[in-house]
Amino acid sequence: MRYDADYKFEKFEEYFGEVEEVEKQVNHCPVCDAPYRFNHFSDFKNLYVQETAKCIKCDHSVRKTVHIIN
Ligand SMILES: [Zn+2]
Repeated sequence: MRYDADYKFEKFEEYFGEVEEVEKQVNHCPVCDAPYRFNHFSDFKNLYVQETAKCIKCDHSVRKTVHIIN
């Protein structure tokens, strides 16, 4: 699988604040506050999951994250 430079590795240090606040940052669009729609592409050979989060409302905000499975 080719590495997509658009994807960034998940860093929990980026999240701050109360649990509800973090949950909102992770699951909602920062532009319009609508929930993200998640797509996951698993690569079990290399043990990671590419996650694409796209806003269902404004279609503008897309976040790509790589989760390492271990
Ligand atoms: Zn949005």
